[in-house]
Amino acid sequence: MKRPAKPSPQRQPLADAQPARKPSVSSPGTPARAVREREPTPFARKSSEGISPRDPDVLHRLAEEVGSRRFSSQQIQAWQSEIYQQTLSLSRLISQPNFTKVGRDDLVRMIQMYDERFFAGKILPAARAEGISFGFSSRMTRIAGKLVTHYPEGIHRKRKFELILSSTLLFQTFEDVDRPVEVTGRVCRNRLEAMQRIAEHEFTHLIEMLIWNCGNCSEKRFQSIASRYFGHRDYRHDLITQRERAVTKFDVRVGDQVQFGHDGHTMCGRVNRITRRATVLVENHKGQPFSDGGRYVRYYVPLEKLTKVN
Ligand SMILES: [Zn+2]
Repeated sequence: MKRPAKPSPQRQPLADAQPARKPSVSSPGTPARAVREREPTPFARKSSEGISPRDPDVLHRLAEEVGSRRFSSQQIQAWQSEIYQQTLSLSRLISQPNFTKVGRDDLVRMIQMYDERFFAGKILPAARAEGISFGFSSRMTRIAGKLVTHYPEGIHRKRKFELILSSTLLFQTFEDVDRPVEVTGRVCRNRLEAMQRIAEHEFTHLIEMLIWNCGNCSEKRFQSIASRYFGHRDYRHDLITQRERAVTKFDVRVGDQVQFGHDGHTMCGRVNRITRRATVLVENHKGQPFSDGGRYVRYYVPLEKLTKVN
């Protein structure tokens, strides 16, 4: 599919579905200012009674259905816009498509609506029989979402899934850098559409892990499911990263000399990295030695506080 001309954003994978390195840790990160963390809502509590964890019959039936079912593009779009409208009308925090606040319950409700419509409500009860949690992370500055699978009791036993979206990427897109944004190969007109596409992608990861205990969005089976169920044409996103914001809005790139104020002093240094904030190295004989022979102290500076020095 042809893409509109734009200032060469880099497309990033939406996520890596991978086993967690350690079985227990990995908190979904500190909540961003605009994300309200709430305790699990009634949506997360729907009964999984009657389903035992990793029940082979249940998973086998799901595999057959998920592996072959098709929907017309009209049906897909109708359900997607129904979920869009329902989110706007049911959410306490999302009152407009470019919402400025979002809560974990919004994500839970959204996934629940996808499960009910596209999978007749069969996915989440099977996932809940093992354990699933949802959340937002402000520390994910390049990936839009992720699905983490924990194996607290060993590889063949009950797992625990975590489905996490990046609040940082969501909120800095449709903010101050104006260009068309694509997620999963589909143009998103606003933040809510982007959130839906990311949620669909991560939900597909959950489905693959749940049923097959493996999966990868750069491979055929994932792409077949994402395409047949959600009309996805790509597995990447080009949401606005801080690095792009830095160039577009502040004309700042890695390697640039910059000034910024710190404790009443004007500091001068070089941009070494841009994630949520810019990492600026300032020369200081007491600082840490670097490979170029100099000694520097690191400062983490919000982009808006930087002035480029020519
Ligand atoms: Zn992915």
